[in-house]
Amino acid sequence: MLIIDKELCIGCGICESACPFGAISVVDGCAVVADGCTLCGSCVEMCDAGALQIEGAEKNASLDLASWSGVWVYCEFRRGALAPVSLELLGAGRRLADIRNVLLSAVLIGSETGDTAQQLIGHGADTVYRIDDPALAHFTDEAYGTIMTALIQQHKPEIVLAGATAIGRSFIPGVATNLGAGLTADCTQLAIREEDGALLQTRPAFGGNIMATIVCPNSRPQMSTVRPKVMQALAFDAERQGNIVEVKPTAEQLATRVRVMESVVSEEDNVNIQEADILVAGGRGLDSAKGFTLMRELADSLGGAIAATRAVVDAGWIAYPHQVGQTGKTVAPKLYIACGISGAVQHVAGMQSAETIVAINRDKDAPIFDVADFGLVGDLFEIVPKLLTKIEERRKS
Ligand SMILES: Cc1cc2nc3c(=O)[nH]c(=O)nc-3n(C[C@H](O)[C@H](O)[C@H](O)COP(=O)(O)OP(=O)(O)OC[C@H]3O[C@@H](n4cnc5c(N)ncnc54)[C@H](O)[C@@H]3O)c2cc1C
Repeated sequence: MLIIDKELCIGCGICESACPFGAISVVDGCAVVADGCTLCGSCVEMCDAGALQIEGAEKNASLDLASWSGVWVYCEFRRGALAPVSLELLGAGRRLADIRNVLLSAVLIGSETGDTAQQLIGHGADTVYRIDDPALAHFTDEAYGTIMTALIQQHKPEIVLAGATAIGRSFIPGVATNLGAGLTADCTQLAIREEDGALLQTRPAFGGNIMATIVCPNSRPQMSTVRPKVMQALAFDAERQGNIVEVKPTAEQLATRVRVMESVVSEEDNVNIQEADILVAGGRGLDSAKGFTLMRELADSLGGAIAATRAVVDAGWIAYPHQVGQTGKTVAPKLYIACGISGAVQHVAGMQSAETIVAINRDKDAPIFDVADFGLVGDLFEIVPKLLTKIEERRKS
């Protein structure tokens, strides 16, 4: 909460112009804060009279930052498998830990995790905190959050990373709140600031039009969720040595008000476009939901999966798990065939890392051609059937 000391405020209005959100104004000679305040602290920095203060900031200012050390990665384990983003984050975490000259630790929470801890070491972790208990077979915000919070309080890592997956996005903000730490969601780049070792957390902001770099100078740990497919995993090294620390959760930590009766994977949830090597993506140029029949034919002939733009997801032509882009998924397949997609910046943000991009669009000036390796100008309903015939001919020969 932003606190205004009426005794100290001189009504100069500097805070009013410093606020990027228009959330502070001077009324009757004194600053007044409105609903849009995000506690960004811009006004506090600018106030020469010292009349503004963010509640809780003074607690963090006295935090002994040097006592927090190490980089941690929450490694998501679900339905007997590790989420691929966990290995990508270990790759990123290894780089950060080496720059900081500290240890990289993985946190593995779940049930029947088998040799996963060993895999995490092979992919870069120095230490794995393994919390393996039948009560943790199903994810719940309460149990996972309580365990993660307690571990961080005990070991005090300076950086904590987690995947921006449904699970990471669900419980990591609660952990940050428990710890009074900042959290930057959906990062696409991470770096270390040389002068003070602060974590530079970069993410798209204002509709993807700018990249914002966020720093948490006064609180620890520095916490980020990171999008899948934007960081590089390290190759597995069977010779790597590390420590596995078994952590036994207490009954209080496992207690949760949520009772999972059954866990069912819906067909749509099963769509994992981030794992596909080949994606055939459709946009508004498909004209209607029926256009996806042609996309499916092309995807099936190539052994690929279907992706889509937000425009067609919003139109109800296909379900959200297929959406690529800033508010969808980030993908990096070997081949991305964009059909009837204009190439809006928010879409391109999610697919520009594809190895080869083929674009089919009847508008030769469509921005998608700026990122395409191969461009086909013309009607997709004429081009795609011809492609299908060619693929079939190739297969037969
Ligand atoms: C905050 C925010 C977040 C967003 N997040 C996302 C996101 O995550 N993902 C995303 O995709 N978008 C996102 N958008 C929306 C984005 O800005 C675009 O509106 C959207 O990507 C456009 O989708 P489209 O290319 O299918 O449609 P359009 O822009 O309408 O393009 C259709 C294209 O099809 C071509 N075409 C038409 N008929 C044919 C034909 N018969 N043959 C060949 N070509 C044809 C046209 O020439 C045109 O280029 C976001 C927008 C905002 C503001």
